[in-house]
Parts: sequence; C-alpha cells; structure tokens
Amino acid sequence: MGGREANVVLLDENGIRSDGRKVNETRKVTIKAGVLKNANGSAYIEFGGNKILAGVFGPRDVHPKHMSNPDTGILRVRYHMEPFSVGERKKPAPSRREIEISKVIKEALEPAVMLENFPRTAVDVFLEVLQADGGTRCAALDAASVALADAGIPMRDIVCACAAGKAGDALILDVNNEEDQAGQADMPIGYMPNLGKITLLQLDGVLTPDEYKKCIELGLEGCKQVYEIQKNALREKYFSSSDNN
Ligand code: UDP
Repeated sequence: MGGREANVVLLDENGIRSDGRKVNETRKVTIKAGVLKNANGSAYIEFGGNKILAGVFGPRDVHPKHMSNPDTGILRVRYHMEPFSVGERKKPAPSRREIEISKVIKEALEPAVMLENFPRTAVDVFLEVLQADGGTRCAALDAASVALADAGIPMRDIVCACAAGKAGDALILDVNNEEDQAGQADMPIGYMPNLGKITLLQLDGVLTPDEYKKCIELGLEGCKQVYEIQKNALREKYFSSSDNN
C-alpha cells in the first residue's frame, strides 16, 4: 500500500474501477506452457499488465552439497524483476522485496511439490518479471506452478493465486498497480483447489474482521478462475497437435 492518496478515483458512481473492471472481475490472464527449450519446464504468463517468465530445472544435484537433504528434495525459488519492468528503473541487485517474494513463493509451492520423492536433489524455479503492474507475486506463483507441472515434477495440486483487496471503500478482486498504490488493502492469496488449502496469505492494509473473511472468499473465486486457465495451458501443450517447442 502506497500513500492512499484521497484524490485518486478508484471506483466511480457505477461501481466501475479505473481500468473499466467490475469489483469482482480479474484482469485478462493468458498462460502458455513450455516456452523455453533449455529449461526442464517453463511457462509465460500475462496477468493484466504483468508479463512473467518461469523456468524450472531439476530435480538435479545440489551445489553446494551440504545444502542437500538426505530425506527430501529441496525447492529453491528466485523471483527477479528486470530493471526495465517498472516505470522507475529498478536497480539490478536483489532487493529486500525480491528476497521476500522469493521466500513466500517458495513456501506457497512447497506443500504442492512432492519433494520427498527426490531426496538429495534440488528443484530450481526462476521467475523473471519482464513487466510489472501490481500483483506480480500472484502471477509469478501461477506461472511457477505451470512450469513445475510442465517439468513433469509430481505435484499434489497446482497452486493458483490471485489477490483481493479494498479500494474506494469496496472489496475488489485482483488489485492492479494503481489500486495497490492508492487503495486501502491488498491481500495476495495462493490456493490448492483440489486439497482446499491456502498456501499464501498476506495482507497489506487494513480490513475489518468481516471484510477480511469476504476478501478471502473473493480472492478464492479469482484463484479458481486462474486454476482453469493454468490447466488449459497444460492441456494445450500436451494434448494439442501443434509443436510447441
Ligand atoms: N513496483 C515498482 N517498483 C519496484 C517494486 C514494485 O514499481 O521496485 C510496482 C510493481 O508494479 C509491483 C507493484 O509495485 O507489481 C506492487 O508491488 P508489491 O510489492 O505490492 O508486490 P506485487 O503486488 O507485485 O506482488
């Protein structure tokens, strides 16, 4: 949440948001699986104005070796924003924010990936944000799940993610950059629909207990919509006749 500037009109008198969406509408989401030849699995997502590439490698040997675990595989996630991905050039060095987002995405994916099948190995997930427009951690998590599945790594479920929040005093689905900066709350959610488990839940801003519950319900609706798009991306790669690579 940024300055919460009072002058920005985030919701008009008809309940329409500044980018033309209704309060319960996500931005357009498109996902393509298997876009990188040299990765074991990959995906490209456009989530509104966000453009993110995910590349997965492994299970593979761990270097340095002392980081490996004889009982299970480990998951490593690097979320990185390109300097040109935002209006004001981002310094190339990893920021505290990128380290935090890498950590929360890793923790959101871990319950889904059957790492216990691959002791002493690592699965590496690289997430490159080419263009950012609010909600990159959710979009990156969506792409990471598809890339992991594309790599053939056994998973309990696909993790789907979408944020809900509050702007213009209304609860809204899929918070864009402007709403994130000037709105009242942003709540990214990661969810495994088949298992009914939430694996990512953050809240930046202020909500009443009632709004908090409604925001989760709204966010889960968005997650479920993204889930269908993720499955379609995988179907398209594996069940269509066209050559994807
Ligand atoms: N952002 C930016 N410069 C930065 C970091 C972020 O302009 O150095 C923008 C970017 O559009 C991002 C948004 O701020 O999507 C919200 O960032 P936040 O930390 O809330 O994470 P996100 O919503 O992307 O998961």
